[in-house]
Amino acid sequence: MMDYDYDIVIIGSGLGGLTAASLLSRMGFKIVVVESRNRIGGRFSTFEYEGFKLPTGAILIPDGWVVNLLEDMGIGADNLRPITQVYYRIDGERYEIPAEIGVPKVLDIIDKLERKDAEKKKRPVKPVELRKIMRGYYKKMRGINQEETITVRDWLLQYTENEKVHDAFDTLCTGLMMAHSWELPVSKFFLFQEMTKFYISPDGNLSIVEELAKVVEKTGAVWINSPARKINIKEGKATSVIVEKEGKQIEIKCQMVISNIGAKSTVNLAGKENFDNGYLEKMRIKLRPSPCLLVLVASDKPLCLEGINNGLEIIMGSRRIKTVIPISNICPELVPAGQHLIYTSAKSESTLHPMDIKYEMQQVKSDIREFFPDFENYGRILKIRACGIINEWPEGRTWLGYGMPLETPISNLFNVGDSCIAPGLIGTPGSVESGYRVADIVKKIL
Ligand SMILES: Cc1cc2nc3c(=O)[nH]c(=O)nc-3n(C[C@H](O)[C@H](O)[C@H](O)COP(=O)(O)OP(=O)(O)OC[C@H]3O[C@@H](n4cnc5c(N)ncnc54)[C@H](O)[C@@H]3O)c2cc1C
Repeated sequence: MMDYDYDIVIIGSGLGGLTAASLLSRMGFKIVVVESRNRIGGRFSTFEYEGFKLPTGAILIPDGWVVNLLEDMGIGADNLRPITQVYYRIDGERYEIPAEIGVPKVLDIIDKLERKDAEKKKRPVKPVELRKIMRGYYKKMRGINQEETITVRDWLLQYTENEKVHDAFDTLCTGLMMAHSWELPVSKFFLFQEMTKFYISPDGNLSIVEELAKVVEKTGAVWINSPARKINIKEGKATSVIVEKEGKQIEIKCQMVISNIGAKSTVNLAGKENFDNGYLEKMRIKLRPSPCLLVLVASDKPLCLEGINNGLEIIMGSRRIKTVIPISNICPELVPAGQHLIYTSAKSESTLHPMDIKYEMQQVKSDIREFFPDFENYGRILKIRACGIINEWPEGRTWLGYGMPLETPISNLFNVGDSCIAPGLIGTPGSVESGYRVADIVKKIL
């Protein structure tokens, strides 16, 4: 077996792993990142298909952590394309609503529609209770009791039974927090750090992670097609990682291991026997992976937001599709000439149970036909990725507010990535923030 020596081995080249790797490389540590796939970036990457540059997972880059990382690394974020306009489709009508006033404005529209409909049908109004909800909303924003375990839906039921209002809150929860409103505790909901501006990379996310990899490669290495098979633990410390590279097993000796493959897979690589029961129990009860269907729809003519090159659409009252991003309007360079592309990730009926993929797909197709009437004549489903809770590719490795600590019972083994999101963060910002945190800890230790 060949031997290598590095200060730190990072397992997985997702956004969290590469954040930690690039920051620690810049501090002078000799790093190797090992990646099992033939491409870096994990759920924040790009693959080519029929001339389209398609995302492997994330598409929207919220302003903040990711952009700051690029600036810190001297990569710059100038070429990212901003999405500044958010449109809501409510009862078939489209409304442009600035992200900063999203919730009250949506409720106000629902209120007006409800009154109009009740008057037309001569039925009693199902009150929206806008004022009461907003009073309760702002009160919770000022301070939340972390012990509060009622769900978002139950909290909202104190104020209203209007179905459209409940649907609006569910759309918010599934779109941004990884769980349904009847699953997520209200205490977690109000931790959420608002996102008001998003970006898309016109060169695909792979180009971003490649820039991060270049920072690492100045003093270290990034190996693709190199799955880690084992983390060796001796006397309570990680001493080396066994990696398969070019058909051979190699041993990388190191002072520190950072794993970006999710807390559960880290335990499997290092051996359950090296973790105390408290840690394993926490992992079992805390981590809540979130499933979704990533659906990429190509067409010969635009299917939504025609002529708008900086907007996305949020659909209320759908079966599954909540957010629609017309990628080709914003970044036409990602699609072949004359083609259009929309991106949507659809949340299944439950985020707690494995998806019935066939059934979920039928629901998504019904949504597509209903909301994009031109689909039948001009569109086709280009790619679908089932991101389940039992495979290693969920939309998020855990819901908002349910991150594991970065530290493990093994003093020089850390996790990074979206299984370790800080309270209030989710997705790419959550992964990047965990990379900053772990780099800080490691710097102090080594
Ligand atoms: C469909 C979908 C849509 C999403 N949309 C958004 C969005 O719009 N905005 C947003 O902010 N977030 C979004 N997310 C979430 C976001 O993509 C993730 O939170 C983030 O990319 C996770 O990064 P990570 O650091 O946890 O690493 P991961 O992406 O999980 O990467 C881990 C890497 O480790 C590798 N690996 C696994 N096992 C091994 C091994 N044994 N040895 C070596 N390598 C290994 C994997 O191949 C992978 O490359 C979306 C996710 C999905 C799936």
